[in-house]
Amino acid sequence: MTTEEGMTEYVKRDAEDNGYYLIPDRDMLEDLIDGLVTNQKRYGYPSCPCRPASGVKTYDSDIICPCEYRDIDVEEYGMCYCGLFVSKEVKEDPSKLTSIPERRPSEIIDAAADADKSNDKTEKVEKGGSPPVWRCTVCGYLASRDTPPPICPICKAKAERFEKFEFG
Ligand code: SF4
Repeated sequence: MTTEEGMTEYVKRDAEDNGYYLIPDRDMLEDLIDGLVTNQKRYGYPSCPCRPASGVKTYDSDIICPCEYRDIDVEEYGMCYCGLFVSKEVKEDPSKLTSIPERRPSEIIDAAADADKSNDKTEKVEKGGSPPVWRCTVCGYLASRDTPPPICPICKAKAERFEKFEFG
């Protein structure tokens, strides 16, 4: 899955198998796929394009796409945290896409952040380090990637409305 085509096929099949749909906006879809491919190449697994990864698979296993939080988020909000997978209702009315709360437990986020900082990186896949996290200043959407998204998938704010986000 190191190509956009392969990754698109992968998430498409997964959506079909689970009764979900992919984000209807083509540009946003391409951007999220691009993020997954980048993480696949960087870490060796497709970690979530909206969350920072530690680069240590053990700590990132819950956010390998599709993440452990996808099903419950689609059930509750009609979309996953990134908006890649959506319900039928949201697919038919994309205005229902919204910024949703992070369900990943803070203890796991902290442990992963510690692993990222740790000197013991024997398990870490070194492929250029973790990319920065960008925060949409309009709606709070987060994206972990080298450059800000060209447009926010949630509120459609442009890249210049993103700022680098530092975790506590
Ligand atoms: S939030 Fe969506 S895109 Fe991110 S890992 Fe979960 S399912 Fe994949």
